[in-house]
Amino acid sequence: MKIKFTGTGDGRGIPSVGCKCQRCSLARKNGGKNRRRTVSVIVTNKSDTILFDTPSSIGQVLNEEKIFHLTAVFLSHKHFDHVGGVTVFEYWPEKILVYGNMSVLGNFEITDRLYENCEFHVLHDKKSVKINNIKVKPFSVAHKVPTFGLIFTENDKMIMHFSDKAEKRLDDYEKRLLKKSDLAIFHAPGFDGGTDHIDVLQVLKIAEKYPSTTFVITHIGHNNLSHDELEKVVSSYGNVVIAYDGLTLQV
Ligand SMILES: [Zn+2]
Ligand SMILES: [Zn+2]
Ligand SMILES: [Zn+2]
Repeated sequence: MKIKFTGTGDGRGIPSVGCKCQRCSLARKNGGKNRRRTVSVIVTNKSDTILFDTPSSIGQVLNEEKIFHLTAVFLSHKHFDHVGGVTVFEYWPEKILVYGNMSVLGNFEITDRLYENCEFHVLHDKKSVKINNIKVKPFSVAHKVPTFGLIFTENDKMIMHFSDKAEKRLDDYEKRLLKKSDLAIFHAPGFDGGTDHIDVLQVLKIAEKYPSTTFVITHIGHNNLSHDELEKVVSSYGNVVIAYDGLTLQV
């Protein structure tokens, strides 16, 4: 499987609209890896393309990536930075398969056309869905609203994606799966506290315990360190990657 990080910013993205802070000003001026769209990833294999989350940037992402067919779309939870772009699928030329929990699927009556263009499937905790050769297993993640992370498995390869995890504590299920995962993705808007999500320092503590798993940090906010500073911090860890828009990893 291949995973592409098509957006790596937190709910605001960087630069954040209306924000004149140093980080946003520099991102506006210089672009590069400090410019972060709101968060999404695309998982592909030989036959399928799976999109995870539809933030406000998703229309632009699909156009730039020249994606004209999606096998399925999965949604983690109802927060706007994860679903706010979903109305682009009003005009998608084929019926789109959408998987999510009841809390997020309840938002689809925003427009009649969107509602009609989607085929909905309700996800249940730890009940896998087969997307041809890729098994997608949702698991509940501690957050303010009902939220699913996803585990993508193909043959013996596994990607574990925690969406907007609030707590640094891992339950036994998460620990067991982390050990088996090739990639583990965490949303850490802040470096050291300051948000109600897990932060970079907490992810690094977890990464130390699972040396054979590669950890990817994404959903990064404008109050976090710059991309270069974050890379410097993680450089002494052999198994931590700071995501940027366009990063593609193969497992
Ligand atoms: Zn978020
Ligand atoms: Zn800012
Ligand atoms: Zn959220």
